[in-house]
Amino acid sequence: MLILGIESSCDETAVALVRGDRSIVAQRIASQDEAHRPFGGVVPELAARAHAERLTPMVAEVLDEAGVALADVDAVAATAGPGLIGGVMVGLVTGKALAWGAGKPLLAINHLEGHALSPRLADPALQFPYLLLLVSGGHCQLLGVEGVGRYRRLATTIDDAIGEAFDKTAKILGLGFPGGPAVERAARSGDARRFALPRPLLGSAEPHFSFAGLKSAVLRQWAALPDKTPTDRDDLAAGFQAAATDCLVDRTARAIAAFPQATALVVAGGVASNQHIRAALAAVAAAHGLGFVAPPLWLCTDNAAMIAWAGAERLALGLVDTLDAPARPRWPLDPGAEAVRGAGV
Ligand code: ATP
Ligand code: MG
Ligand code: FE
Repeated sequence: MLILGIESSCDETAVALVRGDRSIVAQRIASQDEAHRPFGGVVPELAARAHAERLTPMVAEVLDEAGVALADVDAVAATAGPGLIGGVMVGLVTGKALAWGAGKPLLAINHLEGHALSPRLADPALQFPYLLLLVSGGHCQLLGVEGVGRYRRLATTIDDAIGEAFDKTAKILGLGFPGGPAVERAARSGDARRFALPRPLLGSAEPHFSFAGLKSAVLRQWAALPDKTPTDRDDLAAGFQAAATDCLVDRTARAIAAFPQATALVVAGGVASNQHIRAALAAVAAAHGLGFVAPPLWLCTDNAAMIAWAGAERLALGLVDTLDAPARPRWPLDPGAEAVRGAGV
């Protein structure tokens, strides 16, 4: 089985060819960091235009590199949401056109399902059900992954996503864009104990996450510093990262108790590329006698291999889509779940 995957929901334009045996035949990821850097965040219109310019040539490059024709693929998988709607439409329409032109099935993939199943692309031994901590730019959720298309949401954020908190912290500290990797780098030489920062909902009986108060505390502490030296900056970055990690660990330990059928603790999404967070989660899993699976760093941030792989998993179950599949700016993985205070879906 050979799947062509397309990802364009945020600011990575990505194309990949993945086989059902998990081999990645070819892939390209074009980051738009340079285009968005002057604005300190992703500008949706710029993103959509860049996807429209890059995507079609990238499909040709990936097919060329693999030495395959479109006629050789078994299906086309494209992200259909959630994400910035302009970019999602570019990718989905491109996917539909390719599928229709080649007479192949279309797989309209939920980007979050791409993240959720990406650990199974990395680790063939990973079996359902597993407990997934999904930590990304737009989400922070704990999910019981019972099978393909079967996700039980155990917790979500009641305000900011964790990646958003990393990005805003980076902005406050003048660390630039994209923020997560910059905060991690600064934190490496910082003293995490210097600043007293809150750990929202730590120890709470409610399962959810909250990061808005932590972000505001970073802003207050930074504003109160007279000199704002590089050491101040590194210490505050380290303090933020430590506080955010403590929250993840506490909430995850709680979810392990709530989902005892899990065969492993799994982390996915862009923030899962943070080494400090990975190490802390590996320790929680070990303390509970659970295996721990974290995809390689490149597979944590947005890419098309995870979209192609989610497509492969869905095609194997016959879950194909029609050419009128909608582009969806919002699309919770667990549609049955109530939105928590209207946020975090
Ligand atoms: P979503 O998947 O929720 O739709 P997204 O696709 O924008 O959002 P991802 O690409 O999965 O998000 O992740 C990007 C986020 O990950 C950004 O917020 C970025 O700052 C964060 N991130 C990336 N690397 C790191 C890191 N090393 N440490 C912390 N955060 C990181
Ligand atoms: Mg990005
Ligand atoms: Fe993502």
